[in-house]
Amino acid sequence: MNLILMGLPGAGKGTQAEKIVEKYQIPHISTGDMFRSAMKEGTDLGKKAQSFMDQGELVPDEVTIGIVRERLSKPDCQAGFLLDGFPRTIAQAEALEQLLAELATPLQYVLHVDVPKDKLIERLTGRRICPECGATYHVIFNPPKVEGICDHDGTALIQRDDDRPETVSKRLEVNAEQTQPLLDFYQDKGYLVTVDGDQDINVVFEEIDKQLQTLV
Ligand SMILES: [Zn+2]
Repeated sequence: MNLILMGLPGAGKGTQAEKIVEKYQIPHISTGDMFRSAMKEGTDLGKKAQSFMDQGELVPDEVTIGIVRERLSKPDCQAGFLLDGFPRTIAQAEALEQLLAELATPLQYVLHVDVPKDKLIERLTGRRICPECGATYHVIFNPPKVEGICDHDGTALIQRDDDRPETVSKRLEVNAEQTQPLLDFYQDKGYLVTVDGDQDINVVFEEIDKQLQTLV
């Protein structure tokens, strides 16, 4: 089961990844984890990536794709993989396609958890934090007992700058612009499966699961 998972921040991608991995026993491979383990293992590519990062430079695609190749060649990927956060560009998507052809393990689905932007803004701007004890709340999904007040210590809750509407909206826009060409690319190739992410998380998973059942 060879999968890519896509979705904007707040779409619930992480939750769905956990559910997919648990049910189908394939590794969840995020770009960050991949880089961290290559650097920790001290592979040649890991060292190369490290040296670019140390200089504050972007890691070039040939290094990144090499690290992806090493990761996908590990024994735990025999039953498949769930890629998350890679590819980010068309060039990387094309390199991945070539790599998967070499490994004789073709891609099957690109799962896109789709949530309208206004709903994402609602989710992402609803977070409130207690400056005293660090407890986190959400005005809709996990409200405190008394509006604006921490349940534990009665402190007034605050909103972090990162969670403010202007910041969130900007972040989503940039992300959506980067993602759209990839969605089009995979749509054209027939891999894209778009799932309505604006539903209960269990219902979202049921829809994903229905698709994945076609592979087992
Ligand atoms: Zn508190």
